[in-house]
Amino acid sequence: MGLRPNLLTRRAAGVASTTLALLLSTAAVGVVPAASAFSAAPSEVCAEPADVHSDARIKKGGIAKHEPNELTAKQVREREADLAAALRERASFRAGAQAAAPLASVTIPVVVHVIQRDSTRAGGNIPDSMITSQISVLNQAYAGATGGAATAFGFQLTKINRVTNPAWYPIVQGSSAERSMKTSLREGGKNTLNVYLGELSDDLLGWATFPQRKLNSMDGVVVLSESLPGGTAANYNQGDTGTHEVGHWLNLYHTFQGGCSGSGDSVSDTPAEASPAFQCPTGRDTCTTAGLDPITNFMDYTYDSCMYQFTAGQASRMLTAWNAYRAA
Ligand SMILES: [Zn+2]
Repeated sequence: MGLRPNLLTRRAAGVASTTLALLLSTAAVGVVPAASAFSAAPSEVCAEPADVHSDARIKKGGIAKHEPNELTAKQVREREADLAAALRERASFRAGAQAAAPLASVTIPVVVHVIQRDSTRAGGNIPDSMITSQISVLNQAYAGATGGAATAFGFQLTKINRVTNPAWYPIVQGSSAERSMKTSLREGGKNTLNVYLGELSDDLLGWATFPQRKLNSMDGVVVLSESLPGGTAANYNQGDTGTHEVGHWLNLYHTFQGGCSGSGDSVSDTPAEASPAFQCPTGRDTCTTAGLDPITNFMDYTYDSCMYQFTAGQASRMLTAWNAYRAA
């Protein structure tokens, strides 16, 4: 496939801006208000309910002391066991009945909820054009058009739902307000991607739920509205937070999951990585195992200008999970 026209620009910009970005990183932190402005206690943020595994993307130097939703080794073991069980369940169902064959290509309906405090841009009122640009970014990324492997997935915007509710703005990760927002707004079945856009708590760029066998009203992705293409989140405004969070929604872990040992992110063609990479640290190599750190992978934490690919192994893992969890 051809490269996205601005790919070379993006890659070059990521490399060239690394030094400058180091100088500017303190300033970039100020994009989202400090966590202390929000009501969620640290214990609420960090204690993820067992039934709502989710994962997040955070800016370097954020206020949050640690990533609120990085999975523990135990959570990964549970998720991998559940995936195996879901696949067995589907296989026995197919053998005994007329279930549909596994899908090889998938168009995902997308419902976008724009959470606003008021009608101002600062209050969350972003234009429709940013949302349609975000859908284009998803389609290019998942088609492999930016330089990575093609995946099975395409995205079709079916609805933009604008909601003005100061009680849901900012969206506070793990809060009862997040739960009531999603319970009120979520639409569609397991195959429908619900995206919630707004200002976010804890310096977060976004978070997402992993697939589950039983549909949960929390299912979906939450994305900082100003991270959409053309937004104001410096270094994170080309739409790749959306790409990253949808990757979790399709069952991908971070490339740095598990560090240098063990099965890492459960994908064999993403080299192991000791910790998240930020900015665009070309040549970073934190593990003695083969391969440089996958800093250009959408499932790392680098700048949008730096990340442009999924691997074939990630594409395969997402399709397997789709057929296990989200296919009709
Ligand atoms: Zn993440």
